[in-house]
Amino acid sequence: MEAYVVGGGMAGAGAAFALARAGLRTTVLEAQPKLGLKPCGRGIPQVGDLPFSVPKEAILNEIRAVATWLDGEPLFRYSGGLNGYIVDKGGLLEHIFAEAGAEVVYNAKYNVRTGTARVNGEQVEVKKGVFAAGFAFYEGERIPVVQYIMKGPLKDVSYDTIEVHFNTEIMGYYYVFPHGEDVEVGVGGFAAPRELWAILDKFIEKDSRLRGRILAKESSAVSVGGVKLGYVNGLPKAGEAAGYVMPLTGEGNRPSTISGYLAGKAVAEGKDPLEAQRRSHVTRGVELQRRLLEWTKSMEVRERREVIRSLPPEVHAEVALATFRIPKMMMRLAHKPLFMLKVAAKLVR
Ligand SMILES: Cc1cc2nc3c(=O)[nH]c(=O)nc-3n(C[C@H](O)[C@H](O)[C@H](O)COP(=O)(O)OP(=O)(O)OC[C@H]3O[C@@H](n4cnc5c(N)ncnc54)[C@H](O)[C@@H]3O)c2cc1C
Repeated sequence: MEAYVVGGGMAGAGAAFALARAGLRTTVLEAQPKLGLKPCGRGIPQVGDLPFSVPKEAILNEIRAVATWLDGEPLFRYSGGLNGYIVDKGGLLEHIFAEAGAEVVYNAKYNVRTGTARVNGEQVEVKKGVFAAGFAFYEGERIPVVQYIMKGPLKDVSYDTIEVHFNTEIMGYYYVFPHGEDVEVGVGGFAAPRELWAILDKFIEKDSRLRGRILAKESSAVSVGGVKLGYVNGLPKAGEAAGYVMPLTGEGNRPSTISGYLAGKAVAEGKDPLEAQRRSHVTRGVELQRRLLEWTKSMEVRERREVIRSLPPEVHAEVALATFRIPKMMMRLAHKPLFMLKVAAKLVR
């Protein structure tokens, strides 16, 4: 039996891993000539819910802390439970496909209109598999993200820390992530790409640590509208194509991988792939964050600032990873009963 995975990103890796492990001859169709070319901060938190482990060779930096700022003022530094990696994404994807025993075909663009692709000079009809071709196929809300990769090492940048600088005006954040010895500096939010580039340049100008030579200037989009499941030519959508991105943080690598894995496993077992994805903890996480995002959108800037400032670091971490349980979260907010009730009203449905 054979199966195809459309798209060689993280969702495709999860899907191919499940399909090939179930014994199906699995071919990954990747439109680009290489893996991991799509712009990404390349961060993956260690939550312990990925279907495979991240191999040492693909780890560029181990992350042990997060440092945050709120509209330019330092907020907190937290090292209790936000561990993770910055990865060499192309290397990680190659490793996963090889480990699973899936074949990757490059420059193999799947034609959505005909349901076919060219594989080794031949036209193939894709009948069974998973559709994981990324944000361009998502039917919900998307926001732009722009970033520079700067030559490092840069003095006074911590290479085991990710920095998050909240910008309440654009409802987004600047990030400073290590990338091996180099540094990624970007911003995503509810603004046009041109505006994001302008505020990113200002942000860099103000921070004397970030004076590295620019190695790359990249931009793309993230799907922040929540999970939207469906089929493309009979193939279940997975990953960012189905909205598997945490809407508040833009974290898509982990949720996309898990959704791809669940879709692939269900296809291999003849079960309902949409139901398998719908029931997963990442769907719940994306949906809870989407509700919080809706709420944040409805706030005045001043109120938004107050909410971010008032949350303790461990709540920030649990909200960011969507690992929180509502009752435990309410207990953590018990010292602010009115606020607790507001949060509860937004989350409990
Ligand atoms: C600037 C930026 C920074 C980010 N930083 C982070 C971060 O640090 N951590 C995090 O978790 N998330 C981050 N994200 C989000 C994350 O990159 C995505 O959510 C994640 O890559 C989604 O994985 P995917 O496999 O669903 O899609 P993709 O990674 O987009 O993979 C889809 C693949 O399909 C291929 N493809 C497209 N069309 C076709 C076709 N017709 N035929 C065949 N192949 C096709 C593409 O070439 C691509 O390789 C970031 C996003 C951006 C834009």
